[in-house]
Amino acid sequence: MFDTISNKLQNAFKNLRGLGKISESNVSDSLREVRLALLEADVNFKVARDFIERVKTKSLGQEVIESVHPGQQIIKIIHDELVELLGSTNAGLNLSGNPASIMMVGLHGSGKTTSSAKLAKLLTKQGRQPVLVAADVYRPAAMDQLETLGKQLGIPVFLKKGETDVLAIAREAFDFARANNRNTLIFDTAGRLQIDEPLVQELVRLRDLVKPQEILLVLDAATGQEAVNVATHFDQALNITGSILTKLDGDARGGAALSMKAVTGKPIKLAGTGEKLEDFEPFHPERMASRILGMGDVVSLVERAAEAVDEEEAKRLEEKMRKGEFNLEDFLDQLRQMKKLGSLESIVGLLPGGSDMLKGADLNKSEKEFKRMEGMICAMTFKERRQPVILNASRRIRIAKGSGVTVTELNNMLNRFNQMQQMMKKMGKLQKMMMKKGGMP
Ligand code: GDP
Repeated sequence: MFDTISNKLQNAFKNLRGLGKISESNVSDSLREVRLALLEADVNFKVARDFIERVKTKSLGQEVIESVHPGQQIIKIIHDELVELLGSTNAGLNLSGNPASIMMVGLHGSGKTTSSAKLAKLLTKQGRQPVLVAADVYRPAAMDQLETLGKQLGIPVFLKKGETDVLAIAREAFDFARANNRNTLIFDTAGRLQIDEPLVQELVRLRDLVKPQEILLVLDAATGQEAVNVATHFDQALNITGSILTKLDGDARGGAALSMKAVTGKPIKLAGTGEKLEDFEPFHPERMASRILGMGDVVSLVERAAEAVDEEEAKRLEEKMRKGEFNLEDFLDQLRQMKKLGSLESIVGLLPGGSDMLKGADLNKSEKEFKRMEGMICAMTFKERRQPVILNASRRIRIAKGSGVTVTELNNMLNRFNQMQQMMKKMGKLQKMMMKKGGMP
């Protein structure tokens, strides 16, 4: 995410860190690099200029000049200003209506339909009962797409194929929501390649009828400055309540995210981070700034882990590890739990310095290795997984064949598993000893 600006800023920081004495000229030199990084990321020119001015003024303040590590202080100032630029805190959704309604607007291809479904999924997880409303009367394909996504999620979709009056659809959608106890309507509206007057007129009429609590503009982050221009237009026409920035997983340079709040005054509320329906998250400026600056995003990682890991199960496994009873079936469980956390790349990317670590690392290889291990264990019978000692030569040949590896590869995996098991046993013993001596809580 935002790799280029992230790398450039981290390079600029290398110089800043070494800064012993602060003077106006050496601060200006260091900040020039930061400014270039912002401009190259397609940050609005004025926004970048004001940003640098603010950082410079604060950097030349008494507190920084007198500090032991002025460079570090400046980095902290840049971090804080970046958080501010991204919107300071997460702007939540206002869902006060009964039913509440959300209008999703945006250009073709921005990710509007996908984000509508992703949002419905997120709200369901938060205990709400959403209904997706197909309000694009010009593109039957968009209706079909929404219908498919709704089915996939088990979330109802209200649609009337052949109806050309979007206001009629909206009225009936409210009746449908009430009759089916749905408390949140998400309107997937029509998009165009470019914003035009007939589209605006239609959206205004729909807005006036629906009176939505939220009008969320869906924007493709990869379009940089253009996304900000689009936002300005939509905001003038509709008075949007915030935006959803999509495709942050791609090669977005960051310009849209970093200029949006300053230029339009409207917060980024949510972010799309991949094609899958779970790749969607509330936009947290603090976490985003830390990710951009290579400081990691441990909070998100812990949140993901809490969602993916079953605590009871974790305790049971820990107990087994300590007693040396951890078998191949448990190992398989662990591999699968880890997968629920996301791809290796996305996990490592959230660690402090993680993006640095990723450079040149062949995660694909590790990911493949995990898959092969999973394949080998899956090819075993339950008994073999629980008691690997019974794995004689003929069983090994069968398993290797079944999982498409050589016997040597299977043997290597089993040897490594044995070593791991020995290690766990030793650690378990050590822990017990320390507990006896009162060395550990
Ligand atoms: P719409 O025309 O605005 O409704 O756009 P769609 O929802 O059909 O999305 C257009 C394309 O962008 C589809 O191929 C989506 O899978 C893709 N897309 C949407 N959001 C994201 C995202 O956050 N990341 C990635 N990588 N692709 C996305």
